[in-house]
Amino acid sequence: MNDEPLAAVSFQGVTRRYGSVTAVRDIDLDIAPGEFFALLGPSGSGKTTLLMLLAGFDQPSDGQVLMSGTPISDFPPHRRRIGVVFQNYALFPHMTAAENVAYPLKMRGVPRDERDNRVNAALGIVSLSDRGASYPSQLSGGQQQRVALARALVFGPDVLLMDEPLGALDRRLRDQMQIELKRIQHELGVTVIYVTHDQSEAMAMADRVGVMSGGELLQVADPETIYAEPANHFVARFIGECSILRVASFDGGKGYEISGARQLLPTPSTAPFDIVVRPENVALRSIESSNPSGQFGIPVTIREITYVGSGWRVSTELDDGQSLLANIPRGHDLAGNLADGLNVIATWDPTSVAILPAEETTEANQQGEKK
Ligand code: ADP
Ligand code: MG
Repeated sequence: MNDEPLAAVSFQGVTRRYGSVTAVRDIDLDIAPGEFFALLGPSGSGKTTLLMLLAGFDQPSDGQVLMSGTPISDFPPHRRRIGVVFQNYALFPHMTAAENVAYPLKMRGVPRDERDNRVNAALGIVSLSDRGASYPSQLSGGQQQRVALARALVFGPDVLLMDEPLGALDRRLRDQMQIELKRIQHELGVTVIYVTHDQSEAMAMADRVGVMSGGELLQVADPETIYAEPANHFVARFIGECSILRVASFDGGKGYEISGARQLLPTPSTAPFDIVVRPENVALRSIESSNPSGQFGIPVTIREITYVGSGWRVSTELDDGQSLLANIPRGHDLAGNLADGLNVIATWDPTSVAILPAEETTEANQQGEKK
């Protein structure tokens, strides 16, 4: 016997083609019971298709979907114990909040008394106990989304699917709902698959993130790993700001050389590779500052300066035209004399660098060469 608990959801070699379009391609993915899993990717990357295949509104062209070890292709949507919340809340306008929440129970033939109890409990979970008699038009966008959530949870699903559920809300309300959603998930222990194109939302909420592009799952990992060790150029660029730099490796990948300076890597990598440097890990110093220990540093020229409240974000240019982003905190030595054209020294710690298999041309070095 295997000690691992059965995955709440398994995609096994799942492909969905629509004519000549392959919406998702050969997806293998296990999601653990109680996990908060975010599917992250740009529009058209196949996120909704994957949810529809799981919810039973669509069928795979190849492969199969399992819940708790059981293939579910023969189960219609209402027998899959899955609740779904969409971006456009899809509430029935002519029904009150309570009637909307009661609807899935009615469909399942739950008797009146039990229905009322469950509806009250579900409205309580989303902090809307006093709004059951309101019609959707009398509720704010955030409240309507809570009703939709209560409706998805009311029949006690094992898995909750959310497709860009906070996309229509303003920033402040979205932040509030993110915290609320985490609380609810914690309370109910329900498995959540959360679709979003917003990387900060995925990073803030999920236990693990799956990054999708062009119907493929490019990387599945916890948020820290996705950020610090992106699997490829696409993931690196999609998750937060970064600079991807072409470097020349030396000694078979023990380190790299860039703009005439050499840095040893903590662990050797297979050449050829590119490096990813996050702006918060770049330190800039004035060209006159002393460098007694012969520390790694490369000359760069400041090109663009953006005030970001906590300090400045600057875009700099290397001698070979590549561009490098850096953060300058408030109170930094350079803060007073930042200017386009200023020559400074950039440095970073080798442990803060992520290594990517080299690509022919990256967007980063294209941008660099344009300047
Ligand atoms: P996402 O949710 O990540 O924006 P989708 O899963 O909606 O992406 O779409 C993935 C790809 O599949 C897109 O190219 C889309 O145009 C295509 N697609 C999705 N549904 C259909 C459909 N019913 N018929 C034809 N093409 C579809
Ligand atoms: Mg979608």
